[in-house]
Parts: sequence; structure tokens; C-alpha cells
Amino acid sequence: MAKTFYFTTPLYYVNAPPHLGGTYTTIVADTIARYKRMMGFDVKFFCGTDEHGQKIERAAKKEGLEPKALADRVHKLYLELWKSIGIEYDEFVRTTEPRHDLAVIELYTRAKASGYIYKGAYSGWYCVSDEAYAPESDPSTPAKCPDCGRLTEWFSEESYFFKLSAFQDRLLELYEKNPKFIRPESRRNEIASFVKGGLKDLSISRKTLKWGIPLPDDPSHVFYVWFDALTAYLTGAGFKVDDVKFSKYWPGEHLVGKDILRFHTVYWPAFLMAARRTEDVEVARKRSGSVYTE
Ligand SMILES: [Zn+2]
Repeated sequence: MAKTFYFTTPLYYVNAPPHLGGTYTTIVADTIARYKRMMGFDVKFFCGTDEHGQKIERAAKKEGLEPKALADRVHKLYLELWKSIGIEYDEFVRTTEPRHDLAVIELYTRAKASGYIYKGAYSGWYCVSDEAYAPESDPSTPAKCPDCGRLTEWFSEESYFFKLSAFQDRLLELYEKNPKFIRPESRRNEIASFVKGGLKDLSISRKTLKWGIPLPDDPSHVFYVWFDALTAYLTGAGFKVDDVKFSKYWPGEHLVGKDILRFHTVYWPAFLMAARRTEDVEVARKRSGSVYTE
């Protein structure tokens, strides 16, 4: 039986039309996928669009559209572009598909059962008119809104957190024992020194946002950014929906640009470790070269 190769591009965000950076990454990924097919691998090549979140909610509002209508329009642009330049994906995941809700909720439920989710408060500089936080988080220096330029207000809201701080040692051990987990080596060193500097817990939900997947045990919150978006890689492999497909293709390999390296090499393996069940560890041990291998 042919060896499998599950390979992903990043999910592109639908608040704006496709851009050159994503197109470049996707062409490189498609080239690698073609090479693997020629080498006899059973390839599952993943593409997708990230369709939730505040930026999309706001971009839609500006145009007088529902977020889903904007997502549909931009998603279609991606499909047309990939077709016109000959991208041959096997799987396309939209984070607004019901099968993706199932994957996110399962990941969350498992992480929570393992004690890695807790309720806290998220604080930051918030623009009331744009309903958005500024990127600066120093409480002593008022920040301006990145969109309208007005001064923001210090704001706190209830949020669920992922206990990322508990994974520092396990992540370092992962990079140490699997030198190819992050390539090239210069990026691995960069991430390892970032993790050595200590990890803060990660806010994974928002009450001020409506355009997202509600938390199963507290629907006044929706999942926020990475917990939703990264999980699409599981969705594409059939997680929670098709066990045969999932056990055949998972785990996979991800191709990402350097601007999202940290999310893929720190948050993502930590989420997966938090959600790991004993039987999954056994399966992973039998497979070589995987991100799961201990
Ligand atoms: Zn503003």
C-alpha cells in the first residue's frame, strides 16, 4: 500500500481578495504535492479558507453584507484563482462548514477534559466604534485604534483561556527529539528560544464577537482565531467525521509563511497534545516522521 502524505497550505482569510503571498505559498505547496504523487505517495493536498472572526464581521458590515455573504464571495475568488493557475487540491475546507464545527468542539472538549481550559478575563485597548482591540497590550500606555486612529479605552471581558504555559517543557522536548519538526533549522532555533522565554496562556474565546463557532458549554462565547482556524487541518483529514480517512492520513505536514510560524509550531502542537488520547499516542508511535512522535 502506498505511503500517505497529507499536506496543507495555510487557510486564507476571507476579509480581502486573494493576494500574492498566499498564491506563492500555494504554488510551492502544489509543486511539492505533485512531486510526492510522482514518487508514488497517496497524497491528500489540503487548501482552505478561514471565514470567521472580527475582521470579517467588520469588513462585511462596512459593505452592508452578512459575514457569510462576504465569505461566500471571497471563497469563490479563491476557487477561481486556484483553478486558473492549475492548483490540484484534494480537499478544501471552509471554517464555516458544519463538519468543521464538529472538529473544533471535539478538540475543545478533549482539552477541557484534560484540564487545559479555564475561564478568565481578557484585557486590552478597545475601540468602541470599531469593536476591535488594538495590538498593544501595555495597560500604562493608551493605544490608538489601528482602523480609525481614535484613542481606545482599556477594556476587560470574560474569556476562556488555553493553558499554553503548561506546555513549555513538552514543546522544547518535541523540537529537541524531532529536529525536522520545524524546518529550516534557523526557524527551529528561533521558535525554541521564543518558547524558552516562557509562554503565556492564550485567550481562545470572545463574547464581543458573534461571527464564530459558539462554545458548546457556554454559547455566549465564540471561538477566537487560532483555536478555530488551525483545527481546519484536522477537519480536512476527516477528524470526527470519517475515522478511516483520519487514521489513514493524519498526521500531516504544513507549509507556512514565517509570519504564522509561531502559531503553527507553538499553539498548534500544544492544542494537539492537550487533546491527545492514549490510543492516539499508540497510533502515532507506530508511524514515523509525524508531528506527534514522542
Ligand atoms: Zn477605531
